[in-house]
Amino acid sequence: MDYIDKLGVSKIINAAGTYTLFSSSTMPAYVQAAVAEAAKHPVRLLELQEAAGRYLAEVLRCEAALVTSGASAAITLGTAACLSVANRDAARRIPVDTDGMRREVIVQASHRYDYDHSLTNCGICFVEVETVEEYERAFSDRTVMAFYFNAAARSPIGREAWIAIAHRHGVPCLNDAAADVPPISNLWKYTAMGFDLVAFSGGKGVRGPQNTGLLLGRRDLVRAASENSSPHDDTVGRGMKVAKEQIVGLVAAVDWVLTQSDESIETECIRRADAIVEHLKALPSVTCETAVGPIANHVPHLLIRYDRAHIAIAPEDVARTLREGQPSIELNPATGGGVENTGLPVDENTIVVGVWMLRDGEEQIVGARLQEVLGSAVIRRR
Ligand SMILES: *Cc1c(COP(=O)(O)O)cnc(C)c1O
Repeated sequence: MDYIDKLGVSKIINAAGTYTLFSSSTMPAYVQAAVAEAAKHPVRLLELQEAAGRYLAEVLRCEAALVTSGASAAITLGTAACLSVANRDAARRIPVDTDGMRREVIVQASHRYDYDHSLTNCGICFVEVETVEEYERAFSDRTVMAFYFNAAARSPIGREAWIAIAHRHGVPCLNDAAADVPPISNLWKYTAMGFDLVAFSGGKGVRGPQNTGLLLGRRDLVRAASENSSPHDDTVGRGMKVAKEQIVGLVAAVDWVLTQSDESIETECIRRADAIVEHLKALPSVTCETAVGPIANHVPHLLIRYDRAHIAIAPEDVARTLREGQPSIELNPATGGGVENTGLPVDENTIVVGVWMLRDGEEQIVGARLQEVLGSAVIRRR
Protein backbone atom coordinates (compact mmCIF):
# COMPACT_ATOMS: atom_id res chain seq x y z
CA MET A 1 0.00 0.00 0.00
CA ASP A 2 1.38 3.42 -0.98
CA TYR A 3 0.28 5.49 2.00
CA ILE A 4 1.31 8.80 0.47
CA ASP A 5 -1.22 8.11 -2.30
CA LYS A 6 -3.77 6.69 0.13
CA LEU A 7 -3.60 9.91 2.16
CA GLY A 8 -4.01 11.97 -1.00
CA VAL A 9 -0.70 13.76 -0.47
CA SER A 10 1.16 15.10 -3.54
CA LYS A 11 4.51 13.62 -4.31
CA ILE A 12 6.82 16.38 -5.43
CA ILE A 13 9.89 16.63 -7.62
CA ASN A 14 12.52 18.07 -5.33
CA ALA A 15 14.45 20.59 -7.43
CA ALA A 16 15.16 22.58 -4.26
CA GLY A 17 17.73 20.62 -2.27
CA THR A 18 17.88 19.15 1.23
CA TYR A 19 15.21 21.39 2.73
CA THR A 20 13.42 20.18 5.86
CA LEU A 21 10.05 21.40 4.52
CA PHE A 22 10.44 19.24 1.42
CA SER A 23 11.37 16.17 3.52
CA SER A 24 15.09 16.82 2.95
CA SER A 25 16.52 13.86 1.05
CA THR A 26 15.46 10.40 0.01
CA MET A 27 17.27 7.38 1.38
CA PRO A 28 19.26 5.31 -1.14
CA ALA A 29 17.88 1.77 -1.68
CA TYR A 30 20.69 0.35 0.48
CA VAL A 31 19.54 2.49 3.44
CA GLN A 32 15.83 1.78 2.86
CA ALA A 33 16.57 -1.96 2.95
CA ALA A 34 18.53 -1.65 6.21
CA VAL A 35 15.63 0.27 7.79
CA ALA A 36 13.06 -2.31 6.65
CA GLU A 37 15.17 -5.17 8.02
CA ALA A 38 15.73 -3.44 11.37
CA ALA A 39 11.99 -2.90 11.74
CA LYS A 40 11.47 -6.65 12.11
CA HIS A 41 13.52 -7.24 15.25
CA PRO A 42 13.11 -6.10 18.85
CA VAL A 43 16.41 -5.13 20.50
CA ARG A 44 17.66 -3.56 23.72
CA LEU A 45 17.66 0.10 22.71
CA LEU A 46 20.64 1.18 24.83
CA GLU A 47 22.72 -1.71 23.52
CA LEU A 48 21.91 -0.67 19.93
CA GLN A 49 22.66 3.01 20.66
CA GLU A 50 26.01 2.16 22.19
CA ALA A 51 27.03 -0.24 19.43
CA ALA A 52 26.01 2.27 16.74
CA GLY A 53 27.99 4.99 18.53
CA ARG A 54 31.13 2.85 18.73
CA TYR A 55 30.86 1.87 15.06
CA LEU A 56 30.27 5.45 13.90
CA ALA A 57 33.13 6.79 16.01
CA GLU A 58 35.44 4.33 14.34
CA VAL A 59 34.42 4.97 10.73
CA LEU A 60 34.15 8.73 11.30
CA ARG A 61 37.52 8.87 13.10
CA CYS A 62 36.38 10.54 16.33
CA GLU A 63 36.39 9.51 20.00
CA ALA A 64 32.67 8.98 20.35
CA ALA A 65 29.38 9.35 18.47
CA LEU A 66 25.67 9.47 19.25
CA VAL A 67 22.76 9.06 16.84
CA THR A 68 20.26 11.83 17.60
CA SER A 69 16.88 12.74 16.15
CA GLY A 70 18.47 15.47 13.99
CA ALA A 71 21.17 18.10 14.00
CA SER A 72 18.92 20.34 16.06
CA ALA A 73 18.64 17.60 18.70
CA ALA A 74 22.41 17.03 18.51
CA ILE A 75 22.92 20.72 19.37
CA THR A 76 20.43 20.54 22.25
CA LEU A 77 22.02 17.38 23.65
CA GLY A 78 25.53 18.74 23.13
CA THR A 79 24.54 21.87 25.04
CA ALA A 80 22.99 19.73 27.80
CA ALA A 81 26.23 17.74 27.90
CA CYS A 82 28.34 20.87 28.42
CA LEU A 83 25.96 21.98 31.18
CA SER A 84 26.21 18.52 32.74
CA VAL A 85 29.99 18.44 32.95
CA ALA A 86 29.98 21.95 34.48
CA ASN A 87 27.14 21.53 36.97
CA ARG A 88 26.07 18.94 39.52
CA ASP A 89 22.79 17.17 38.78
CA ALA A 90 22.19 19.20 35.61
CA ALA A 91 20.24 16.55 33.66
CA ARG A 92 17.41 16.70 36.21
CA ARG A 93 17.48 20.52 36.47
CA ILE A 94 17.60 21.57 32.78
CA PRO A 95 15.94 23.79 31.56
CA VAL A 96 14.17 25.76 34.32
CA ASP A 97 15.69 24.87 37.69
CA THR A 98 18.86 26.75 36.80
CA ASP A 99 19.44 29.04 39.83
CA GLY A 100 23.12 29.05 40.62
CA MET A 101 23.99 26.93 37.62
CA ARG A 102 26.88 27.80 35.33
CA ARG A 103 25.04 28.29 32.05
CA GLU A 104 26.62 30.86 29.74
CA VAL A 105 27.34 30.01 26.11
CA ILE A 106 29.66 32.32 24.18
CA VAL A 107 28.73 32.95 20.55
CA GLN A 108 29.74 35.39 17.80
CA ALA A 109 26.92 37.89 17.22
CA SER A 110 26.93 36.86 13.54
CA HIS A 111 26.39 33.23 14.58
CA ARG A 112 23.01 33.87 16.21
CA TYR A 113 20.60 32.13 13.83
CA ASP A 114 17.39 30.28 13.06
CA TYR A 115 18.35 27.44 15.40
CA ASP A 116 19.00 29.44 18.60
CA HIS A 117 16.19 27.47 20.25
CA SER A 118 18.24 24.29 19.90
CA LEU A 119 20.50 25.81 22.59
CA THR A 120 18.06 27.92 24.62
CA ASN A 121 15.95 24.75 25.12
CA CYS A 122 18.52 23.90 27.78
CA GLY A 123 18.05 27.12 29.75
CA ILE A 124 21.41 28.61 28.74
CA CYS A 125 22.04 32.29 28.15
CA PHE A 126 24.05 33.60 25.24
CA VAL A 127 27.01 35.94 25.66
CA GLU A 128 27.64 37.64 22.31
CA VAL A 129 31.05 38.72 21.12
CA GLU A 130 32.34 40.33 17.93
CA THR A 131 36.10 40.64 18.35
CA VAL A 132 38.88 38.44 19.71
CA GLU A 133 39.34 40.90 22.61
CA GLU A 134 35.65 40.63 23.55
CA TYR A 135 35.86 36.86 23.21
CA GLU A 136 38.83 36.65 25.60
CA ARG A 137 37.01 38.87 28.11
CA ALA A 138 33.74 36.91 27.86
CA PHE A 139 35.05 33.81 29.68
CA SER A 140 34.18 33.52 33.36
CA ASP A 141 33.35 30.77 35.83
CA ARG A 142 29.80 30.88 34.41
CA THR A 143 30.93 29.80 30.91
CA VAL A 144 30.00 26.24 29.87
CA MET A 145 30.45 26.23 26.09
CA ALA A 146 31.65 28.19 23.06
CA PHE A 147 29.29 27.73 20.11
CA TYR A 148 30.21 27.98 16.41
CA PHE A 149 27.90 28.09 13.35
CA ASN A 150 29.97 26.49 10.63
CA ALA A 151 28.17 27.93 7.60
CA ALA A 152 27.69 31.47 8.95
CA ALA A 153 27.87 34.15 6.27
CA ARG A 154 30.27 36.12 8.47
CA SER A 155 32.77 34.84 11.06
CA PRO A 156 35.08 37.59 12.37
CA ILE A 157 36.71 34.91 14.55
CA GLY A 158 37.75 31.81 12.55
CA ARG A 159 37.41 28.21 13.64
CA GLU A 160 40.98 27.58 14.79
CA ALA A 161 41.14 30.78 16.86
CA TRP A 162 37.69 30.04 18.29
CA ILE A 163 38.84 26.62 19.49
CA ALA A 164 42.28 27.69 20.72
CA ILE A 165 40.98 30.51 22.90
CA ALA A 166 38.15 28.41 24.36
CA HIS A 167 40.54 25.58 25.18
CA ARG A 168 42.94 27.98 26.88
CA HIS A 169 40.00 28.74 29.19
CA GLY A 170 39.14 25.04 29.55
CA VAL A 171 35.79 25.45 27.77
CA PRO A 172 34.43 22.97 25.17
CA CYS A 173 33.40 24.08 21.65
CA LEU A 174 30.38 22.84 19.70
CA ASN A 175 30.18 23.31 15.92
CA ASP A 176 26.88 23.19 14.01
CA ALA A 177 27.84 21.73 10.62
CA ALA A 178 24.34 20.35 9.93
CA ALA A 179 24.19 20.87 6.16
CA ASP A 180 27.91 20.77 5.44
CA VAL A 181 28.34 17.36 3.77
CA PRO A 182 29.71 17.12 1.04
CA PRO A 183 32.64 17.31 1.19
CA ILE A 184 32.38 13.91 2.85
CA SER A 185 35.65 14.54 4.72
CA ASN A 186 33.89 17.24 6.77
CA LEU A 187 32.55 14.29 8.80
CA TRP A 188 36.01 14.04 10.43
CA LYS A 189 37.60 17.41 9.55
CA TYR A 190 36.03 19.46 12.35
CA THR A 191 36.56 16.96 15.15
CA ALA A 192 40.18 16.61 13.98
CA MET A 193 40.46 20.41 14.04
CA GLY A 194 39.67 20.33 17.75
CA PHE A 195 35.95 20.96 18.10
CA ASP A 196 34.86 19.00 21.17
CA LEU A 197 31.45 18.35 19.63
CA VAL A 198 30.21 18.55 16.03
CA ALA A 199 26.58 18.24 14.90
CA PHE A 200 25.46 16.99 11.48
CA SER A 201 22.04 16.27 10.02
CA GLY A 202 21.58 12.62 9.12
CA GLY A 203 18.84 13.39 6.62
CA LYS A 204 20.61 15.95 4.45
CA GLY A 205 23.77 15.12 2.48
CA VAL A 206 24.31 11.88 4.43
CA ARG A 207 20.97 10.59 3.03
CA GLY A 208 19.78 8.81 6.16
CA PRO A 209 16.29 9.03 7.69
CA GLN A 210 15.17 12.68 7.90
CA ASN A 211 14.76 12.50 11.67
CA THR A 212 18.36 11.57 12.42
CA GLY A 213 21.51 13.45 13.26
CA LEU A 214 25.04 12.90 14.45
CA LEU A 215 26.75 14.23 17.54
CA LEU A 216 30.46 13.52 17.24
CA GLY A 217 33.30 14.29 19.60
CA ARG A 218 34.77 13.90 23.06
CA ARG A 219 33.88 10.68 24.87
CA ASP A 220 32.85 12.29 28.18
CA LEU A 221 30.65 14.86 26.44
CA VAL A 222 28.98 12.35 24.11
CA ARG A 223 28.25 10.14 27.13
CA ALA A 224 26.75 13.13 28.96
CA ALA A 225 24.68 13.95 25.86
CA SER A 226 23.25 10.45 25.78
CA GLU A 227 22.42 10.65 29.51
CA ASN A 228 20.35 13.76 28.71
CA SER A 229 18.37 11.90 26.08
CA SER A 230 15.89 9.09 25.47
CA PRO A 231 15.46 6.45 26.83
CA HIS A 232 16.29 8.36 30.05
CA ASP A 233 12.87 9.63 31.05
CA ASP A 234 13.32 12.78 33.11
CA THR A 235 15.60 14.67 30.70
CA VAL A 236 15.40 17.51 28.20
CA GLY A 237 16.04 15.02 25.39
CA ARG A 238 13.37 12.44 26.25
CA GLY A 239 11.21 13.76 23.41
CA MET A 240 14.11 13.42 20.96
CA LYS A 241 13.76 9.64 20.84
CA VAL A 242 15.49 7.77 18.06
CA ALA A 243 13.89 4.47 17.11
CA LYS A 244 15.89 1.39 16.16
CA GLU A 245 14.95 1.89 12.49
CA GLN A 246 16.48 5.37 12.52
CA ILE A 247 19.60 4.32 14.40
CA VAL A 248 20.24 1.52 11.93
CA GLY A 249 19.22 3.73 9.01
CA LEU A 250 21.78 6.38 9.90
CA VAL A 251 24.56 3.82 10.36
CA ALA A 252 23.71 2.37 6.93
CA ALA A 253 23.61 5.88 5.43
CA VAL A 254 27.06 6.66 6.81
CA ASP A 255 28.34 3.39 5.33
CA TRP A 256 26.70 4.37 2.03
CA VAL A 257 28.05 7.92 1.95
CA LEU A 258 31.56 6.62 2.61
CA THR A 259 31.29 4.62 -0.64
CA GLN A 260 30.59 7.87 -2.53
CA SER A 261 33.05 10.54 -3.62
CA ASP A 262 32.77 14.32 -3.80
CA GLU A 263 33.78 14.09 -7.46
CA SER A 264 31.02 11.62 -8.37
CA ILE A 265 28.38 13.75 -6.59
CA GLU A 266 29.60 16.85 -8.42
CA THR A 267 29.79 15.10 -11.80
CA GLU A 268 26.23 13.83 -11.45
CA CYS A 269 24.96 17.31 -10.51
CA ILE A 270 26.67 18.84 -13.55
CA ARG A 271 25.24 16.13 -15.81
CA ARG A 272 21.71 16.87 -14.59
CA ALA A 273 22.24 20.63 -14.93
CA ASP A 274 23.47 20.14 -18.51
CA ALA A 275 20.42 18.03 -19.32
CA ILE A 276 18.12 20.85 -18.11
CA VAL A 277 20.10 23.51 -20.01
CA GLU A 278 19.63 21.44 -23.19
CA HIS A 279 15.87 22.16 -22.96
CA LEU A 280 16.39 25.93 -22.65
CA LYS A 281 18.78 26.53 -25.52
CA ALA A 282 16.27 28.04 -27.97
CA LEU A 283 14.88 30.60 -25.49
CA PRO A 284 15.94 34.22 -26.06
CA SER A 285 18.34 35.89 -23.60
CA VAL A 286 18.65 32.84 -21.32
CA THR A 287 22.10 32.22 -19.82
CA CYS A 288 22.93 29.35 -17.51
CA GLU A 289 25.77 28.56 -15.16
CA THR A 290 26.34 26.25 -12.23
CA ALA A 291 27.42 27.57 -8.83
CA VAL A 292 28.39 25.82 -5.61
CA GLY A 293 27.28 26.96 -2.16
CA PRO A 294 30.31 28.12 -0.14
CA ILE A 295 29.90 25.79 2.87
CA ALA A 296 26.36 24.49 3.29
CA ASN A 297 24.87 22.76 0.22
CA HIS A 298 28.34 22.55 -1.28
CA VAL A 299 27.18 21.04 -4.58
CA PRO A 300 26.57 22.53 -8.06
CA HIS A 301 23.22 24.33 -8.43
CA LEU A 302 21.90 25.42 -11.83
CA LEU A 303 21.40 29.19 -12.12
CA ILE A 304 19.18 30.33 -14.99
CA ARG A 305 19.14 34.06 -15.84
CA TYR A 306 17.15 35.89 -18.49
CA ASP A 307 16.13 39.34 -19.62
CA ARG A 308 12.56 40.27 -18.68
CA ALA A 309 12.38 42.37 -21.88
CA HIS A 310 12.45 39.02 -23.72
CA ILE A 311 10.73 36.69 -21.25
CA ALA A 312 7.96 38.39 -19.33
CA ILE A 313 7.65 36.32 -16.17
CA ALA A 314 9.23 36.76 -12.75
CA PRO A 315 11.27 33.83 -11.34
CA GLU A 316 8.86 33.63 -8.36
CA ASP A 317 5.99 33.17 -10.80
CA VAL A 318 7.91 30.43 -12.60
CA ALA A 319 8.38 28.73 -9.22
CA ARG A 320 4.68 29.06 -8.40
CA THR A 321 3.62 27.72 -11.81
CA LEU A 322 5.91 24.71 -11.44
CA ARG A 323 4.62 24.11 -7.92
CA GLU A 324 1.00 24.20 -9.10
CA GLY A 325 1.67 22.02 -12.15
CA GLN A 326 1.55 18.26 -12.59
CA PRO A 327 3.87 16.77 -11.44
CA SER A 328 4.46 19.41 -8.78
CA ILE A 329 8.03 20.74 -8.80
CA GLU A 330 9.72 22.70 -6.01
CA LEU A 331 12.56 24.96 -7.14
CA ASN A 332 15.29 26.17 -4.78
CA PRO A 333 13.93 28.86 -2.42
CA ALA A 334 16.72 31.26 -3.46
CA THR A 335 14.87 31.61 -6.79
CA GLY A 336 14.22 35.30 -7.50
CA GLY A 337 16.69 36.33 -4.80
CA GLY A 338 14.44 34.78 -2.13
CA VAL A 339 15.17 35.11 1.55
CA GLU A 340 17.05 31.83 1.77
CA ASN A 341 20.72 32.53 2.52
CA THR A 342 22.44 30.11 0.17
CA GLY A 343 25.57 32.14 -0.53
CA LEU A 344 24.84 31.65 -4.27
CA PRO A 345 25.19 34.57 -6.73
CA VAL A 346 21.44 35.10 -7.11
CA ASP A 347 19.34 38.16 -7.94
CA GLU A 348 15.68 38.94 -8.73
CA ASN A 349 16.14 37.60 -12.29
CA THR A 350 17.65 34.23 -11.36
CA ILE A 351 15.97 30.83 -11.20
CA VAL A 352 17.83 28.37 -8.98
CA VAL A 353 17.45 24.64 -9.61
CA GLY A 354 18.80 22.38 -6.88
CA VAL A 355 19.63 19.34 -9.00
CA TRP A 356 21.24 17.40 -6.14
CA MET A 357 18.12 15.66 -4.80
CA LEU A 358 16.45 14.91 -8.15
CA ARG A 359 15.75 11.27 -8.80
CA ASP A 360 16.91 9.59 -11.98
CA GLY A 361 15.23 11.06 -15.03
CA GLU A 362 13.50 13.91 -13.21
CA GLU A 363 15.97 16.38 -14.73
CA GLN A 364 14.18 15.80 -18.05
CA ILE A 365 10.79 16.66 -16.52
CA VAL A 366 12.19 19.79 -14.83
CA GLY A 367 13.89 20.88 -18.08
CA ALA A 368 10.73 20.35 -20.14
CA ARG A 369 8.52 22.22 -17.66
CA LEU A 370 10.93 25.16 -17.45
CA GLN A 371 11.02 25.31 -21.25
CA GLU A 372 7.23 25.29 -21.38
CA VAL A 373 6.72 27.98 -18.72
CA LEU A 374 9.52 30.29 -19.87
CA GLY A 375 8.66 29.65 -23.54
CA SER A 376 5.04 30.69 -23.06
CA ALA A 377 6.23 34.02 -21.61
CA VAL A 378 8.50 34.89 -24.55
CA ILE A 379 7.64 38.27 -26.03
CA ARG A 380 7.25 37.79 -29.79
CA ARG A 381 8.49 40.75 -31.83
CA ARG A 382 7.71 41.30 -35.49
C1 LIG B 1 19.17 21.74 8.83
C2 LIG B 1 19.93 22.48 9.86
C3 LIG B 1 19.75 22.22 11.23
C4 LIG B 1 18.71 21.26 11.72
O1 LIG B 1 18.97 19.98 11.30
P1 LIG B 1 17.92 18.79 11.57
O2 LIG B 1 18.67 17.58 11.20
O3 LIG B 1 16.74 19.07 10.67
O4 LIG B 1 17.54 18.86 12.99
C5 LIG B 1 20.52 22.91 12.13
N1 LIG B 1 21.45 23.80 11.74
C6 LIG B 1 21.64 24.09 10.43
C7 LIG B 1 22.68 25.10 10.05
C8 LIG B 1 20.91 23.43 9.44
O5 LIG B 1 21.11 23.70 8.15
